[in-house]
Amino acid sequence: MPRDIKAAYKKETRSPDGRPGKNYWQNKGRYNITVTALPPDRNVKGEESITYFNNSPDSIRNPVIKLFLNIHKPGAPRNFGATEDYLTSGMKIDAVTLNGSPYEWKENPNRFTWHPMPLRKALAPHDSMKITFKWHYEISKQSNREGMIDSLTYFLAYFYPRLAVLDDYNLWDRMNFMDSHEFYSDFNDYVVTVNVPKNYIVWGTGTLQHPENVLQPEILKRYNDSFTTDQVIHVATKEELAAGKVTTQNAINSWQFTAKNIPDMTFGLSDHFLWDAGSVVVDNTTKRRASVQSAYDEPSADFRYMVKFGKHSLAWLSNNWPGVPYPYEKSTIFRGFADMEYPMMVNDGSNQDTTFSRFVAEHEIAHTYMPFYMGINETRYGFMDEGWATTFELLIGRADMDPKKAEELYKQFRVEGWIGDRSSNEDIPIITPGDALTGAGFGNNEYGKASIGYLAMKDLLGDELFKKCLHAFMERWHSKHPTPWDFFYTFNDVSGKNLNWFWSRWFFETNYIDLAIMDVNQTGAGFTANIDNIGGMPSPFDLVANFKDGSTERFHQTPAVWQADQKKASVSIKTKKKIKSLSIDGGIWMDADENNNDWIAK
Ligand SMILES: [Zn+2]
Repeated sequence: MPRDIKAAYKKETRSPDGRPGKNYWQNKGRYNITVTALPPDRNVKGEESITYFNNSPDSIRNPVIKLFLNIHKPGAPRNFGATEDYLTSGMKIDAVTLNGSPYEWKENPNRFTWHPMPLRKALAPHDSMKITFKWHYEISKQSNREGMIDSLTYFLAYFYPRLAVLDDYNLWDRMNFMDSHEFYSDFNDYVVTVNVPKNYIVWGTGTLQHPENVLQPEILKRYNDSFTTDQVIHVATKEELAAGKVTTQNAINSWQFTAKNIPDMTFGLSDHFLWDAGSVVVDNTTKRRASVQSAYDEPSADFRYMVKFGKHSLAWLSNNWPGVPYPYEKSTIFRGFADMEYPMMVNDGSNQDTTFSRFVAEHEIAHTYMPFYMGINETRYGFMDEGWATTFELLIGRADMDPKKAEELYKQFRVEGWIGDRSSNEDIPIITPGDALTGAGFGNNEYGKASIGYLAMKDLLGDELFKKCLHAFMERWHSKHPTPWDFFYTFNDVSGKNLNWFWSRWFFETNYIDLAIMDVNQTGAGFTANIDNIGGMPSPFDLVANFKDGSTERFHQTPAVWQADQKKASVSIKTKKKIKSLSIDGGIWMDADENNNDWIAK
């Protein structure tokens, strides 16, 4: 356990049973933002007021402001190169006030995506401060997680100055945003007004206030109907948009969205994207429905199915895995290039193959739970959200298609890249903070390696107990900031088992998967196979026995076979049949060296 986490237990902000401690706290902001985008003008202007509450036990003297879009500035530290079309002059801060007085904002050429904002008078515990910002930026021609989708379609994300997270174990989040690593956000309350020219539709996070102010009556009726119907409604067509029949015909329309207790707000806007919408019951007890919307250009043919795919995802995730009702009022699938999640929104590329489109949409929508509902620190512990989205992606995939096909996709996209690569980067422990990693080791630690770790734990505990532990973790920590230890300890607590032997070997050590059959002893009562765990991961596996009578049987072994001894296990199987050959089949737990997986009777 690193020293910062140990200190949190000492301060009792976190509890060793996996619950938030009696001194747990987190800070919060109330953001009131107005942003104006007038395509094809690439200048986006914003102003905001932030009321920031200090719930920490300490005074704040040097808060940190995140300016994510400075990733576009020439010279910004990045994990990737940048093309000419990606570069802009970044976020220009035009005016700042603090508690009603002008504040002199000092640009520092060596700071990019985060800036310190020293306070003359410290913000005391349980006090609040009010900061206002005016800023502008040029939206980048080449989009990544935000930017221009086409010359008249903008995707606005991470577009406003915000307080970084101050938490109880890491204090201020002073990590540079480098493009590969993701985010960490407080749960804030937002009122966001997006000003756009007439005939532009704005989609985004939160409840659209007074839709009657921005939509013409016929469109408004379809929009309203979409919240109660099982049908997919074409709220606005390309022809209607071109004829000026969709939005109110003011020179500028103000689209206002509100959301409370949410980590971020994101918007897409276009004057030619089509708009589909429907809804689905996400809570069978209360019959609550959630809206599913999609926004796309005409050539993106796969997007015609997106409301259907989205409804399926919301209903499946709500009722199966994680089996927690979708926590928001809507999900919008926006046609872009990012394959990226945002609260109540995803930005996905278009594919010829609709099976792949559905696969990506399901993954991104699954992120609703982790990181957003659960307040995960994705920058530092990305395996806590990508590992789960990847796990849900396999579980929903097995329900959507032939389970074998889903597992093939999982192995191909999520496991092979790790287990098939001998580079020592791949075996760096999953728990390593994300900002200390780049490259393949970073990606595989977050996605496949963590995901099959969760699935191995599911195999060990069985579905019922595993779900009970997962639900307890989600109940204890939703809308908060859990660390990996809060997760591990909750599973130990709720299962009533000390699972540290498993967590240590899967998440904290340099192990990989390589099992080997050393020898097999046959007796009248059956056979005993001696298996060496060369790689050290406590992975489940099947022993596949081919008998002399021509029959084949599988004997599944959960990770429990590795609890007593990490390196060796003897598996005894009772059978009257004589075996001809025996092999290890790890299934999705792919083996780095399959040459030692078979035994043939002499
Ligand atoms: Zn993901």
